[in-house]
Amino acid sequence: MGACHGEPGPLVGENASVPLYRDEAVVLRTHKLGEADRIITLLTRNRGLVRTVAKGVRRTRSRFGARLEPFMVIDIQCYEGRNLDTVTQVETLAVYGDAICRDYTAYTAATVMVETAERLCEEHEPATQQHLLLVGALRSLTGGEHDPSLVLDAFLLRSIAIAGWAPSFYDCAKCGAPGPHRAFNIAAGGTVCTVCRPPGSAAPAPETMRLLASLLSGDWVIADGSEARDRREGSGLVSAFLQWHLERGVRSLRHVDRDGTRPPAPPRRTLPLKAAGAHEDGVDLAAVVPPLGSHPALDRHLGATQPDVREPV
Ligand SMILES: [Zn+2]
Repeated sequence: MGACHGEPGPLVGENASVPLYRDEAVVLRTHKLGEADRIITLLTRNRGLVRTVAKGVRRTRSRFGARLEPFMVIDIQCYEGRNLDTVTQVETLAVYGDAICRDYTAYTAATVMVETAERLCEEHEPATQQHLLLVGALRSLTGGEHDPSLVLDAFLLRSIAIAGWAPSFYDCAKCGAPGPHRAFNIAAGGTVCTVCRPPGSAAPAPETMRLLASLLSGDWVIADGSEARDRREGSGLVSAFLQWHLERGVRSLRHVDRDGTRPPAPPRRTLPLKAAGAHEDGVDLAAVVPPLGSHPALDRHLGATQPDVREPV
């Protein structure tokens, strides 16, 4: 059986009653479960966020080896469970974890990326674009082609854009008047003209606006040539933008079907994380899985990069 690049096929398990599926995935994070198992949170290509259990993975002779570590890109086969799916097969597609973990800046950037992906995607809601964006960003971090902080900001901007909130860095975000404009307003969606400008808008440096536009569009010649102070100011704006949308529930916007090619979503299931006595194979999930909102590196990142805009308008 080759790697699955489309919709997961209607595979059926050996006992012909358990639904099996195959998908490409990035490992977002892992948690110990019992003596030898782990819960693995994945961003899959076709099923969005998926929580799986890998049985025996912490034993030295586990057949999964190190393939279920954070930042690994894998081809995975699972069977569906009531709360958690169970991993039956894993093949490595790309190993980014080793290189990323050797570089602290790349590691922190990658950690913020996987936590953001977990916040922006929903369980069993297809998120192909977010999956491809994350794989590309991890690959870029590994290659060391660009400053990791630029790769992170490019990832965050595009991730927000995919979620439905592409910021504007040139034309007015409210009326569309051709730019460039001096004022920038997070709530308005980016740069705003003098007519639309809400009170309290910021006035970032024009170079910062150019940098952010280049990160969003993928113009790395401009981004790589940017000055440190513009990168700092840009990171602050990106963080503020992300935080503003996360607090207002990015999830509600992701149902916009922009290209009409989204595969149908499998039935929604919810993980009873906080329910007392929630069990999967006799294990109390609430005791081992942190709440969905726990994203320490992302929260630290957002807290540490408040916008430091040089002059208010
Ligand atoms: Zn306007």
